[in-house]
Amino acid sequence: MTTHSSTTEVSGEPGRDEERQGFDEIHILWISEGMSCDGDTVSLTAADQPSIEDLVLGLIPGLPKVNLVNKVLSPSLGGEDFLAPYRAAVRGELAPFILVIEGSIPNQNIIEGDGYWTSFGNDPETGEPQTLNWWIDQLAPKAWAVVAAGTCATFGGIHAMAGNPTGCMGLADYLGWDFRSQGALPVVNVPGCPIQPENFMETLIWVLYHAAGSAPPPPLDHMLRPQWLFGKTVHEGCDRGSYYEQGTFAKDYNSPKCLVKTGCWGPVVNCNVPKRGWMAGIGGCPNVGGICIGCTMPGFPDAFMPFMDEPPGGTLSSMIVKPYGAVIRRLRGFTNELVNHEPRWRHNKRKLTSGYDPHWRP
Ligand code: SF4
Ligand code: SF4
Repeated sequence: MTTHSSTTEVSGEPGRDEERQGFDEIHILWISEGMSCDGDTVSLTAADQPSIEDLVLGLIPGLPKVNLVNKVLSPSLGGEDFLAPYRAAVRGELAPFILVIEGSIPNQNIIEGDGYWTSFGNDPETGEPQTLNWWIDQLAPKAWAVVAAGTCATFGGIHAMAGNPTGCMGLADYLGWDFRSQGALPVVNVPGCPIQPENFMETLIWVLYHAAGSAPPPPLDHMLRPQWLFGKTVHEGCDRGSYYEQGTFAKDYNSPKCLVKTGCWGPVVNCNVPKRGWMAGIGGCPNVGGICIGCTMPGFPDAFMPFMDEPPGGTLSSMIVKPYGAVIRRLRGFTNELVNHEPRWRHNKRKLTSGYDPHWRP
């Protein structure tokens, strides 16, 4: 482990120098062996501002050198070669590191007898699979920060829906919502099914600047989500909001209008995807015709199913907005007609009619 002082000198303020100590190298140990599809890892490769390549190549000024270990992106030959940094971290020989968990955490306690829901490598001594739960138990207390990538790891997600056999849950459910890492951070939750690429990247970069000693801890809300990403609703950033306001609603899936009557949960879902787009501002959900199914939310998916039915609150709110919307739409129609004409002084006749007054000339 290496540390360095920030280059920022703050004289005459006792204690500030200590506050600004930071790491100049850090490992990211990513485990996607939860109840997972690896979709969050794949999604991350689409990030552009910055990209994962920018991060691992050290192209972002002021960040610690990052050693990323992720099975999908690993240049190792796999097996024990790949597992070596994880084993070193368990032994306390690799620090500091950020532990990233992808996928929901199964409940091992409900298994009677031998067996496991999901594992990551085998115990070198016994040859028995080592469960995800064992790895979390070993690594989370030693991690400088713990990050949950995707809705499965944050809140349980699709794998934790009613009727599932694994009894799985999110990382904070498993570690405790009052868990604190070595860096004094709670679990940092970045929900999304999958994560929006730059939502995750921005959060990771913030955590890394904090690790470098040059940023405060990332501001998180009561569900441990980054506030600047999840503080607003889908509806507040949806470019179909004007249709909603004017009371014009789509009745089928090929309409450019507001989708609330075809199943959009946007008004009550915390997510920035329609505002931000998916890749380079392109794509999204309701903004491009796909109902919001609330995939970032702690209640996902059960609270939002069946997805293609109108949300219960949508009926009332759309009914209330309809008469107001009809009047406003009509009034705007008149004004729109008015401003769709050029002023009468724009012509090619012999007389100037713009109202120009030359009286000020000498
Ligand atoms: S499509 Fe959904 S998010 Fe967009 S305005 Fe309509 S209800 Fe709101
Ligand atoms: S807009 Fe809705 S469906 Fe799309 S990513 Fe956000 S929460 Fe998920």
